[in-house]
Amino acid sequence: MAKLNAKMVSLPKSKIRDVFNMVEGKEGLAKFVLGEPNFDTAQEICDYAYKAMSEGHTHYTNNRGLIELREEIAKKLEKDNHVSYDPKTEIIVTTSGTDALNLTMRALCEEGDEVIVPGPYWTPYPYIVQLAGAKPVVVPMLEEDGFMYNLENLKKAVNEKTKVLMLNSPSNPTGGMADRKLLEGIAELARKYDFWILSDEVYEKIVFDGNEHISIASLPGMKERTIINNSFSKSYAMTGWRIGYAAAPAPVVDVMTNLHEYYTSCTAEPAQYGAIAALRIGQKSLDYMIENYTRRRKILVEGLNNIKGLSCMPPKGTFYAFPNIKKSGMSSDTFYKRLIDEAGVVVIPGDACGEYGEGYVRMCFATSDENIQQGLSQVQICV
Ligand code: PLP
Repeated sequence: MAKLNAKMVSLPKSKIRDVFNMVEGKEGLAKFVLGEPNFDTAQEICDYAYKAMSEGHTHYTNNRGLIELREEIAKKLEKDNHVSYDPKTEIIVTTSGTDALNLTMRALCEEGDEVIVPGPYWTPYPYIVQLAGAKPVVVPMLEEDGFMYNLENLKKAVNEKTKVLMLNSPSNPTGGMADRKLLEGIAELARKYDFWILSDEVYEKIVFDGNEHISIASLPGMKERTIINNSFSKSYAMTGWRIGYAAAPAPVVDVMTNLHEYYTSCTAEPAQYGAIAALRIGQKSLDYMIENYTRRRKILVEGLNNIKGLSCMPPKGTFYAFPNIKKSGMSSDTFYKRLIDEAGVVVIPGDACGEYGEGYVRMCFATSDENIQQGLSQVQICV
């Protein structure tokens, strides 16, 4: 066999996927693994997409996506995030949030650039940065800082090579969120060192206890240096539709649009119709999911805090709990393996999210109340 690209061959596998593949199809386990809603897409959204398909909307679209969808996205950004974008030039529909992240990073980064990545991070982050030729610089978001950036740590990490700062609020895997004061501090740094902010807002709708998601693009002077990435996966239970978007200054969107032509060309037309419906009529299904996540979060967090040796800070947003397991004396890797073997409970070891995830595990509570109750009673066995 002729040689493969050595760099790609040595690209590490995602530990989250490894765990998922290991337990896929195995019955009788309490699983808290993949970050996806355990709800199906709302019927009205599916109906709208079926209708579009049956009327012949089964073709390539503009690389930027259907203008009708971009107009809906612009309305949403104005209403929810208080930022105005021109749907013709400043918005691109992407083939998932992951696609938006990759296109953004490739549009912005060159060899030698540094990108600030939050740690613990969503597993793909540093690899998306590396694939774009840049160097990830992981900045800790510690439990004592509410699992969010601490401005002092950021000041130590940024320099003239910093090209992008990745901001993920609410954060996967920790549920931490950035408040206005922190965002203002980040904005000041971005202006001082002249770097971009990639604001990954895919969990913006899944927030609890009255916490408010603030898009950094809405701060004075920040729209021009921010790229918002978002997705329909989490808010509308549309993970399998593979559709997301980015909003950014026109020159950035121009480059991303050109890259889109060479990667996937455009997002599936029926999925784009589904996304139009989600933005127009998806609120009811979102409210229903939030109601369920709110109850499940309470059951899981209280249950974990009642287990001796574990502690869990209530996540401000997302559907992940990130319990601290340090008192067990086990590493995240040992702990999660023992949980599977001895308790039949499957979680993600925190080190799948980098060195700052060590001492924690991630538990997705987008799962049934019964699964959570079963998992909690079985976790006790190991601690
Ligand atoms: N960003 C974060 C933080 C995520 O957790 C995910 C998915 O888990 C994504 C982006 C990408 O979502 P998708 O590719 O399904 O749109």
